[in-house]
Amino acid sequence: MENGSMDLVLFGPPAAGKGTQGSRLSETFGTPSISTGQLLRAEMKAGTSLGKKLEEYMYSGGLVPNDLVTSLLTKRLDEPDALNGAIFDGYPRTYEQAYILDALLYLRDRSTKKVIVIEVPDEELIKRVTGRRMDANTGVVYHLEYNLPPPGAELIQRPDDTEEIMVRRLEAYKTKTTPTLPYYEEKNLVARIDGVEL
Ligand code: AMP
Repeated sequence: MENGSMDLVLFGPPAAGKGTQGSRLSETFGTPSISTGQLLRAEMKAGTSLGKKLEEYMYSGGLVPNDLVTSLLTKRLDEPDALNGAIFDGYPRTYEQAYILDALLYLRDRSTKKVIVIEVPDEELIKRVTGRRMDANTGVVYHLEYNLPPPGAELIQRPDDTEEIMVRRLEAYKTKTTPTLPYYEEKNLVARIDGVEL
């Protein structure tokens, strides 16, 4: 028997707005937004041995191997705030991960309720990513043109937010992540939204 939890998957290329929409949905549903990118970055920041291994994958714009991401996700999924559902931002990114997520949810009497695909053209994504900056102290994300940071903020740029690496991240999205969508389309779970006007 399913426990009626609200589990949503957010799909979309890098800088499509998954983080922003994830926080909004999180408030609406009272479930946490879980970003595997953020879990991985926290691990790198903590300087663990796993964190060191992650650098080479993340700074090249490629995907981190399944076992490393999945162990972090599983741990996060069992924290108390995620027991009634979660919004998955950046996971699954491959067909295998879609199966893994289904299995992780099934074992908790849960299932994916909807997959929301945020669509944004490539040129717009590159503009967004190259202007994106984060406040090192608060973690709040700004843009040098669209969403100006407050004066005095200590801004940092994600090392993978450069045009060169972004091209590889987009490539990974197109070749590995979008081919996962038919899996969810067959189950009639996919909703597409225009991410430019959001
Ligand atoms: P993001 O913050 O979602 O843009 O993710 C940043 C980077 O973390 C990606 O370019 C990947 O290297 C890695 N990453 C995040 N989520 C996953 C995942 N589900 N599978 C593999 N790698 C991931």
